[in-house]
Amino acid sequence: MTKQYAIGVDLGGTNLRVGLVTPEGEVLKKVKEPSTGDIMGNMKKAVDDLMSPEVKGIGIGVAGVVDRKELKVIASPNIPQINGFSFGSLGFTVPVSVENDANAAALGEASFGAGREYPNSVLLTLGTGVGGGLIYKGKLLEVAAEIGHMSIDTGGGKCFCGNNGCLELYCSARAIMASIIKALESGAESILREHSQGNIYRITPEDVYKAALEEGDNLSRETLREAGRYLGVGIANMINIMSPDAVILAGGLIGAWNIYIDEAIKEAAKRAFKSLYQKTAIVPATLGDEAGLVGAANLIFQGQALHDLSSL
Ligand SMILES: [Zn+2]
Repeated sequence: MTKQYAIGVDLGGTNLRVGLVTPEGEVLKKVKEPSTGDIMGNMKKAVDDLMSPEVKGIGIGVAGVVDRKELKVIASPNIPQINGFSFGSLGFTVPVSVENDANAAALGEASFGAGREYPNSVLLTLGTGVGGGLIYKGKLLEVAAEIGHMSIDTGGGKCFCGNNGCLELYCSARAIMASIIKALESGAESILREHSQGNIYRITPEDVYKAALEEGDNLSRETLREAGRYLGVGIANMINIMSPDAVILAGGLIGAWNIYIDEAIKEAAKRAFKSLYQKTAIVPATLGDEAGLVGAANLIFQGQALHDLSSL
């Protein structure tokens, strides 16, 4: 029997996704559950349920820093209970690849999504934090690509990574919400106050885009614009360093494209080398929450970073 499928795993801070994937990036079967409790046990069970003689290997994307060679999680700030975990201990009998989840998503978008037409691309995931991945000539660069932790402000606040003034402190959903809450606490006027039914701590990023895009709320608009300007600085830096064909933007925050991303594009245009900026498409991701899963599976199809567990 030909081994034509791969199992993709996306072990994110919020959800665990496991799927059976074709070489064309189609997800034939999928399991999604919260990343809580015995995460690795749940993952193993979901993988075993999809396993068949037609499966070539298992690609795993993990929220955190990984050791590709040792198939280990070095540090996962969002899922600390898996720090130090070795996938070799799960007893899989097919080859396994391990990657950072944003890197896996970058490969997913590059192979099957918004990046298909672009050999060289940068993916930025804009969510609670800011992650990234770099694609060169259609392949994932096996580097950290911690784009959210590039320094933007020398005097900026402290980041959990130990640095000060990291990009994600200014343009992530967490940063946007912190800035909104601070303004509301100090008495700023905003329609958000009415929507929050007396508890401003219940406001979500979606409430902020809605207020900005549909209700013209000044506080929401200004906060998203300010965050967008910082994101634009980060994008300009990436364009100047990588001269990609495309910058692909993913994550919940692209819901606010018309204000937040528009502002980022304007800022990037001002700052990046003109000749490089002009040849860079800035486009939204198209695979949604399946990017990490299909990208992780594609590590197996591309034969990248493949490690045979029988040799460990
Ligand atoms: Zn940082």
